[in-house]
Amino acid sequence: MSTSSATAGRAGATGAAMAYDALMAHQRQTSALGQVAGRLGWDQETMMPRGAADQRAEEMAAMEAVLHARRTDPRIGDWLAAIEAAALDPVWQAQLRHIRRSFDRARRVPADLAEELARVTSRAQGQWAAARAAEDVQSFVPVLERIVALKRAEGAALAAGGDPYEALLDDYEPDAKVSEIVAMFTAMRAPLVDLRAAALAQPAPQGLQGTFDERAQMELTHLLARAFGYDFNTGRLDKAVHPFSSGSGADVRITTRTSAVDPFNCFYSTVHEVGHACYEQGIDPAYALTPLGQGVSMGVHESQSRIYENQIGRSRAFTGWLFGQMRDAFGDFGIADEDAFYRTVNRLQNGFIRTEADEVQYNLHVMLRFDLERALIAGDLAVRDLEAAWNDRFAADFGFAVDKPSNGCLQDVHWSVGLFGYFPTYSLGNVYAGCLYQAMRAALPGLDGALAQGDTSGATGWLHETVQRHGGLYRPREVIAQAAGMVPTEAPLLAYLHEKFGAIYKL
Ligand code: ZN
Repeated sequence: MSTSSATAGRAGATGAAMAYDALMAHQRQTSALGQVAGRLGWDQETMMPRGAADQRAEEMAAMEAVLHARRTDPRIGDWLAAIEAAALDPVWQAQLRHIRRSFDRARRVPADLAEELARVTSRAQGQWAAARAAEDVQSFVPVLERIVALKRAEGAALAAGGDPYEALLDDYEPDAKVSEIVAMFTAMRAPLVDLRAAALAQPAPQGLQGTFDERAQMELTHLLARAFGYDFNTGRLDKAVHPFSSGSGADVRITTRTSAVDPFNCFYSTVHEVGHACYEQGIDPAYALTPLGQGVSMGVHESQSRIYENQIGRSRAFTGWLFGQMRDAFGDFGIADEDAFYRTVNRLQNGFIRTEADEVQYNLHVMLRFDLERALIAGDLAVRDLEAAWNDRFAADFGFAVDKPSNGCLQDVHWSVGLFGYFPTYSLGNVYAGCLYQAMRAALPGLDGALAQGDTSGATGWLHETVQRHGGLYRPREVIAQAAGMVPTEAPLLAYLHEKFGAIYKL
């Protein structure tokens, strides 16, 4: 190599390094502003005075306008062009992959559409909550019609000739294909329907009796959050109508809800959100406020929340410990021993609500939403016909009729905030959790002994090491495949469900 080309190579490398630094500085500010917008959303669901809804919609739309302008800044294209030809280390490559993807997608969505979506969906959350409280679908129909129209426009813009729904799905699960989701649901549907029917034909485990002090529930739910490794120094736990987690890095907040007759609703929604939050809190701090500094996809996110909640939190070993904690907190609640308590925690019931569904029926709830929202986005189902379509499908899948809209098509917040394409990531998460749990059990022979003492550190440490710390470094299926030692499929989840519920129901 001649001296001059070596010098040119160094100059090129220096130019790339300067462009990289400039790009990442821009990116860090965008990420910081994104966190601010997320905190406005958290505030809206927890603290905001009701009368502030219209002003908040304007605030959110203004933030979205700023963010959209930053994400489509033409300098990003110039910086990427200067960097992408240079030899890069894997972290650089991963950062650039995320930035390129976000830049290309953001540029396809017109700024006024992005802003209008932010404005409409911000206001719609309150409108959905009011309609749900009043059991009034009709008042929400025009709101949802507007949202579906905007999401169809966004999907079409993103898809650039492809499938608009798949383009929306890609926002939550990069690289996922509708055909793969359909195949996954097809493989799961019959075994789950059969398992559900077989279990419900058996005598039902007993339920909880009495009422449970809601202040004591909040105390125990804080204890549970700590037991699963949630860091309150960089987080907080508040009440909200619909439990969620929000934020990344050093500010990751979770919410829960209480019910006097159903403390499991509080405890397991907390453990679920702690799974999400620990993923965000556990990402390598070197990635903070960069594209790698947040969970890589909603499916991978949900794998963490579901494995915390179900495979760990609803295990025989851990529920033995929880039984003792609940006896200390509430006294006698009509359950004789740990074995009976385990069956109570995991009992199948006819129910309307996805978030309260047991592990066997949960994915059936998701399939219903997946099919209906695909039809809405495709234009095959009108919003005014949604309630009837929901109720028909629910009766066909679950064998009984929806009694009121809050138990039917108004139960989930998702569509009101524009989350179309999000629901299937819940089932992907369950499938990923099944794969991870199989590998975790093989890696941790003492797992049950520790869980029986309320010690989750082995399990959560394994997840931190294999999944959480990487943030966005690997692609979604790649990080699961590496951690699980297999190409992800639904087989481990189905085997786990058959073994667990076969034993509980003596099938
Ligand atoms: Zn979740």
